[in-house]
Amino acid sequence: MKPIYFDNHATTQLDPRVLQAMLPYFTEHFGNAASRNHAYGWEAEEAVEKSRRQIASLIGANAKEIVFTSGATESNNLAIKGVAEMYAEKGNHIITAATEHKAVLDTCKHLEKKGCRVTYLPVMGDGRIDLDMLRGAITDQTILISIMYANNEIGVVQPVAEIGKIAKERGVLFHTDAVQAVGKIPVNVIADQVDLLSVTAHKMYGPKGVGALYVRRKSPRVQLTAQMDGGGHERGMRSGTLNVPGIVGLGEACAIAQAEMPEESQRLRGMRDRLRARLEATLDEVFINGSMEHRLPHNLNMSFAYVEGESLLMGIDDIAVSSGSACTSATLEPSYVLKALGLGDDMAHTSIRFGLGRFNTEAEIDYVADKMIAVVTKLRELSPLYEMVKEGIDLSKVQWTAH
Ligand SMILES: *Cc1c(COP(=O)(O)O)cnc(C)c1O
Repeated sequence: MKPIYFDNHATTQLDPRVLQAMLPYFTEHFGNAASRNHAYGWEAEEAVEKSRRQIASLIGANAKEIVFTSGATESNNLAIKGVAEMYAEKGNHIITAATEHKAVLDTCKHLEKKGCRVTYLPVMGDGRIDLDMLRGAITDQTILISIMYANNEIGVVQPVAEIGKIAKERGVLFHTDAVQAVGKIPVNVIADQVDLLSVTAHKMYGPKGVGALYVRRKSPRVQLTAQMDGGGHERGMRSGTLNVPGIVGLGEACAIAQAEMPEESQRLRGMRDRLRARLEATLDEVFINGSMEHRLPHNLNMSFAYVEGESLLMGIDDIAVSSGSACTSATLEPSYVLKALGLGDDMAHTSIRFGLGRFNTEAEIDYVADKMIAVVTKLRELSPLYEMVKEGIDLSKVQWTAH
């Protein structure tokens, strides 16, 4: 038996309806969307344009503003490097946050080597950025603010509309990595005053290896330096023959998400809150990481004090989750996102990210709650520290002696 899947921030299962929509584009409708002279090309192009409208509709954009990519890593690279190169004469300063995905942070680090200046804003204890700090960081050299919509570890939703407003007032472009938010909570590029927005299909029940970048066309008309040279596809911003089946899948995933979001998010929130309530009712010394108020409905990230992280993961090996210590699984580095919130290494190492999704059931929630309670309780029975805390000893006042 494979473990129960609770890792929907890492990737999601392809929705069977998405697969059905994609299948004909591997076989009979195999045309190249750039072929202008025959029906094979036209039907591929038609399918691509339908997908563009489906994505645009979900985020309040115009279909012409959608650029297809291979996923959000590429979308983030194209947005940030594309702006840095195109607007180099205007300035060289970029503002981002310490809790961004590596696809943003490593892109910024690359640009620092090329002469850009990057401000990595810290976050507050709840995982959100401080808007006054953002205002204070903007200079006359600032060309781009890149702040994610919702975080992939803690599910914390940033004050995106406020950031958009600040960016607009100061004449700075605003990019948001919205991978975890699009299709899960309402996202609107007009209301949020976003100029560039990254999405990927595989985090919303679509296929891997396809994504999109929204690029605003009006007030302002955003220009990007292409990072891929070739046939001039996608208004010259991203050359390369389009992945038609993947693009069809992304569009269908967006259409399903748009139709089902109100019901689905309510169902997932209910299950998430049930999991949290059950854990907190039985276990003490458990802590929620990040704001509960500004949070995706399907995310729960909790630290379980006085258990050893590796033992905890081994104890729940029939549940597929991520932990704050296994992120860079080769090394035992604690999560940089949790550290940015102010967690110590101990609490980061004992954190678990529960990422619920469309295909999880209420019965699975109860199974996971029971299993977590049993394993944490058992591990704490073996913990001398937990025993001391239960005896009322203040661990911070203990004089530890080394032997
Ligand atoms: C998964 C993820 C990415 C990377 O997307 P890919 O399509 O896998 O390249 C970027 N940002 C966030 C927040 C993610 O969760």
